[in-house]
Amino acid sequence: MVKENCGVVGIFSLDGANVIPMIIDSLRALQHRGQEAWGIAIPKKQPYKQLGLVSSAVSEFDKVTREYASSAAIGHVRYSTMGGSNLENAQPLKVKDLCVAHNGTISNVEELAGMVGGCTFTPQNVSDTLVAAKRLVSLMSENGKLGNALSILKNEMIGSFCFTFVSDDNAVYAARDPKGFRPLVIGFRKDINTYIVASESAALVAVGAQLIRDVKPGELIKISNAGLESEMFSEEKKSAHCSFEFTYFAHPSSIMEGSNIYTVRKKIGQYLARKFPIKDADIVIPVPDSARPAALGYAQELGIPFEEGLLKDRYSRKGPLRSFIEPHQSDRVEINRWIIPITPVIEGKHVVVVDDSLVRGTSSKAIIKALRRAGAKKISMVITFPPIRFPCYAGIDFPSKEELVTFFDDNKEYSEETMIEKVRQTIGADFLGYNDTKNLADAVGIEVNSMCFTCSTGDYSPLGIKPAFKSRAEIKGE
Ligand code: SF4
Repeated sequence: MVKENCGVVGIFSLDGANVIPMIIDSLRALQHRGQEAWGIAIPKKQPYKQLGLVSSAVSEFDKVTREYASSAAIGHVRYSTMGGSNLENAQPLKVKDLCVAHNGTISNVEELAGMVGGCTFTPQNVSDTLVAAKRLVSLMSENGKLGNALSILKNEMIGSFCFTFVSDDNAVYAARDPKGFRPLVIGFRKDINTYIVASESAALVAVGAQLIRDVKPGELIKISNAGLESEMFSEEKKSAHCSFEFTYFAHPSSIMEGSNIYTVRKKIGQYLARKFPIKDADIVIPVPDSARPAALGYAQELGIPFEEGLLKDRYSRKGPLRSFIEPHQSDRVEINRWIIPITPVIEGKHVVVVDDSLVRGTSSKAIIKALRRAGAKKISMVITFPPIRFPCYAGIDFPSKEELVTFFDDNKEYSEETMIEKVRQTIGADFLGYNDTKNLADAVGIEVNSMCFTCSTGDYSPLGIKPAFKSRAEIKGE
């Protein structure tokens, strides 16, 4: 399975407005980043946390808005990469007078736990965020300010982070790791003099705020009654923005590193069409939902009709969710069952199916079967992301090698060409074409060396590690 990611938000009103309704709205706008649990924290109170979707607690909103009324707050939507999927591990977490929300993964968490007195890490019961927060608080007590503590923590930990914090002395902070793996933006709502920091600009739009800019890799933002202050806790020059955010994870409406995700995805489709111009295709269809703009770009580039050949049943229990980030295999299977082919669109056609990634291959296999049942004459599949062959230790949850469709039982390393052919046979397509790192980076408009492609290339230098791969059960304590 693939998980991650999480979404974070932090809001501070200089006018003293109660920001809780804005926190709720922004979390709803970030729901695509995590659907397991959500929470809110304000100064001098234990965080409020719930399992499930934000919208499922709608009857609580008035009460939460009243009881947690504050001009400073942070929020979190969770998809666990570490730590059991329970309310205790839901975020924000409180350690002494600091509440923290985290998007990312800390992969050397056992080692970090050893630096924290009285903290024993077990994957089931302690999240990487709690360990990092405890370490941060202990570093702050030794070194004073949060910026000093982060400049030490960044050297001790391996992984990725975007943090938002709210402190008991009524300040909101936000920090982005030195490589900028995960996204973080700042916005401002003028009419109520309110700053918002969030994983994606979609959250800013949801609360009527204007995007100011991305938080820089290695930057710490503080928002308090003194206004917005910024300091750098790292002078790292080389970024490693997660390429997967651009193809799959981020919301199409978001603006990330200066580019709108929908526009970027459409361009990725155009560039993919130049790499694989399947001119004899009758139609191009997307795998719903995130591949839709890329399929449109692909179709437009080659002048082939774009059709909606697959629809998600929105009335099924799991229909509206995203299979990629569902934590349990049975849930993913259920989602795939509810992707329905539209037979009159498919029947007798050579169909190009555009998808954003091939992780385990389970969905693709099911989709291709369904298209064959619907009478497709030929099925070509093109993937906007390069082959995923290695685990991610920077915040997206496809952590075990043996779960990937590019891993074969004989444990042999095949040439790229043979590997792709074997994957094609596994999923049952007539043709399979993967994007490559350069083509993808060109479409995104960021230098290939300033993006992370570790899960495809196996080059872990952005994280500065050579990992010993663990099984899913070891990572999750299952
Ligand atoms: S390894 Fe892959 S998923 Fe993880 S941060 Fe890098 S590009 Fe993103």
